[in-house]
Amino acid sequence: MPSFKIGVLGATGAVGQKFIRLLENHPWFTAKVLGASERSAGKKYKKAVHWIEKTELPAEAAELDVQECDPKNFEGVDFVFSGLDSSVAEGIEKDFAQASIPVISNAKNYRMHDQVPLLVPEINPDHAALINKQTFTDDGSGWIVTNPNCVSVPLSMSLRPLHDAFGIDSLVVTSMQSVSGAGYPGVPSMDIVANVVPHIGGEESKVETEATKVLGTITDDSITFNDFTIQATAVRVPTIEGHLLSVSVKLKNPPSSMEDAEQAFTDWDNPIADLDLPSSPDNPVKLYKEDRYPQPRLHADREGGMQTAVGRLHKGTVMDLGYVTMAHNTIRGAAGGAILNAELLAAKEYLN
Ligand code: NAP
Repeated sequence: MPSFKIGVLGATGAVGQKFIRLLENHPWFTAKVLGASERSAGKKYKKAVHWIEKTELPAEAAELDVQECDPKNFEGVDFVFSGLDSSVAEGIEKDFAQASIPVISNAKNYRMHDQVPLLVPEINPDHAALINKQTFTDDGSGWIVTNPNCVSVPLSMSLRPLHDAFGIDSLVVTSMQSVSGAGYPGVPSMDIVANVVPHIGGEESKVETEATKVLGTITDDSITFNDFTIQATAVRVPTIEGHLLSVSVKLKNPPSSMEDAEQAFTDWDNPIADLDLPSSPDNPVKLYKEDRYPQPRLHADREGGMQTAVGRLHKGTVMDLGYVTMAHNTIRGAAGGAILNAELLAAKEYLN
């Protein structure tokens, strides 16, 4: 069984805390160094963090001294996960990569970089090969891998079976995003209680591009983006965890019946099932046939928060198909997705 010492950058934030919880009993990865801003550095983690997880703060992490996010404070770790605020992630993640410490990041800063994989193990495991093209170090020992934004994850996961069966032409998506997506303390309660906020700054442009890279094809030294187009609207709703998306999609070769459309999901095979990765869900994309499912409160935690739910699949009147999809934003859409990426990279021997 592989064994890695790891660091977490941004360990005090909403995503950072999810890393700490998910890593507590991880069979391969042990959190040894925790980093955050200078506001938190120097304090025990239990004093620096405003713990918002439902489970107890893990005892080992609680006693670690929080470090400033400088690579020299992380000597001895095999790689770091990053849950850094995007205002600081670019410089800090580059510093770590240049110091030969691989970075597996949730931040947006390097997602569109030509040589950085935007990795979702069940969709594009072959994109990991881009790591070998990165030039942060002369010997290739420092690199960055990213995962998509918390809306682009369920969007890409739900599009993969449809794309494989029918080809995607274009789509319109409206994401109803939970408050944990804004980090902690996040959206003011006066804005979100009993309300919907019809704008999330910077979100729609990410949703309109990331899935085309995720479903793109790898060439020698970059990704050719998929040619489908996306129109996105992002709104904040008063749920806590789980982003629900309404999707209308135009297909290149539409199915002849709704049974065929359903079958695209039920017949889809997870290409990494045989790797038996610890965080890999048994059923990465579950199709619900009950009209009232999926719901964030009921289904976001399914399969440890790693499953993408699809429901309300119906024939469209303007586009070919409509459906809703939902995934846990801070697990599948952030920390859990990054941990699954690290497991894939360990299994494929990019980490050693
Ligand atoms: P958050 O709760 O605001 O946490 C931000 C983290 O960054 C904290 O640990 C903070 O440390 C640290 N930080 C801020 N300034 C820093 C600095 N100058 N130097 C070092 N560390 C610094 O945000 P979040 O929701 O966890 O999001 C973290 C990242 O993941 C963001 O890039 C976000 O876009 C991305 N993401 C979030 C979600 C989600 O659903 N929340 C999903 C996907 C991706 P202090 O506590 O010391 O300030």
